[in-house]
Amino acid sequence: MDSIMMNNMSYQWEILQKGQLPLRPDRSIDPDVEHICTSTMIWPVGQTPHASNTLIVDPCFSIKGIHNACLKLIRMGASLNNIGYYYVAHDHFDHTLKVPGRDVRRAWKRFYPMKNGPLSGIRVSHCPGHYSSLTALSFNSVAGQVWVVSDAVLDRDWLTAWEYFWPNGYGDEEIIETWRSVAFIISQADVIIPGHGDEILVTPQLIKSLIAEFPKADYADECPEVVDVLNQRLASMK
Ligand SMILES: [Zn+2]
Repeated sequence: MDSIMMNNMSYQWEILQKGQLPLRPDRSIDPDVEHICTSTMIWPVGQTPHASNTLIVDPCFSIKGIHNACLKLIRMGASLNNIGYYYVAHDHFDHTLKVPGRDVRRAWKRFYPMKNGPLSGIRVSHCPGHYSSLTALSFNSVAGQVWVVSDAVLDRDWLTAWEYFWPNGYGDEEIIETWRSVAFIISQADVIIPGHGDEILVTPQLIKSLIAEFPKADYADECPEVVDVLNQRLASMK
């Protein structure tokens, strides 16, 4: 009974700060682009956001980012006071709790998965590679399964280029794990919210292009199961 109730919980989400990366997968750098993470607010469908039912993932705001986030919240009839929990999907400096001009450390509690209560049914999944202990959150929504994955996927361009964030100096095992995590996420998600970009819809076209481009990925030969997983998802969509 419990698990059925959990599966029925449905959530909505709002990207409060849309992330971006100056470094592009073709290794060019846009100096005008600030390095900012994507911060996402999640709360139950049919409810207004309040401190015991609302969660924010990767709450690392720039000054401009928090200003825009507050404007968005006002338009929704809410404010930062309506957020009660935060979740840092991985501990890199550009994703950890930072809210310029506001001390939220006492007001916001760290989110842990709940069996019951207003945020139950939000799942945590280990998606290593970019960061060994990176954990994505996922939930049911009217748009299907939404996966908030932090830097397991940087943004759409990095995803479709099969590039990893090379300045971090990853070894071969970490790169292979990155591709396995991408395949795992694609196998489950209908919408992906990445670490530094706008939401990505998982469509047959996207999966086909990922399958076509995968041979160009570093160490692709050492994880052929990645394409198998993508093909299975594609077949399930027909
Ligand atoms: Zn990042």
